[in-house]
Amino acid sequence: MSMHTHSDDQMACPSCDHLYDMSGLEQGQQARCGTCNHLLATYREHAYAHVVAFSISALIFFVLACCFPFMSFKSSGMESVMTLPQAITQIKGEGMWDLAILVACFILIIPALVMALTAALGISLLAGWRNHWAKDVAKLIFHLQVWSMVEVFFIGVLVSLFKIADMATVGVGIAFWSYAAFAIFFTLALSNLDTFQTWKNLEELEP
Ligand SMILES: [Zn+2]
Repeated sequence: MSMHTHSDDQMACPSCDHLYDMSGLEQGQQARCGTCNHLLATYREHAYAHVVAFSISALIFFVLACCFPFMSFKSSGMESVMTLPQAITQIKGEGMWDLAILVACFILIIPALVMALTAALGISLLAGWRNHWAKDVAKLIFHLQVWSMVEVFFIGVLVSLFKIADMATVGVGIAFWSYAAFAIFFTLALSNLDTFQTWKNLEELEP
């Protein structure tokens, strides 16, 4: 590791703005804020191999979650199944355009985009490529991950299932479990992509 003190080795605590010099952080170590105990950074070995494995797994489960039936309803002898995209179309069909767009963005489009970018960045960092796009992609991921609501969505679905269960017999399909797996791998991929470590490694790759 370089012994120089770069300005990019400085990091402000996201919670209390206390400034820290992170140049001494080594692989396998974790840094916490001395004032408020907020987790500043985790420097992991093999972090990018995990990022790539988790994000690609997430994308596979995402495809399954979109293609297979998400839930089934049985009422008065009739059974109907619905995929996730069909559920969104149904919301749109009931005149709730804005809700359909919000749901589509927060549970499908943004999370899938974040995972695709995370996989690309992870592969690039793992291979040590000097890509001109890598920094912009990293910035985009760290901004967009705030707007991915996979866990919120999942809780929302569980709550509405219990409500619908009064009216009809509701079953969950393969896509439901696939989305659950997607949510887990999504969280794992992003938790392995440490902001400080990623930025430091991107700086080191700059010519
Ligand atoms: Zn702090």
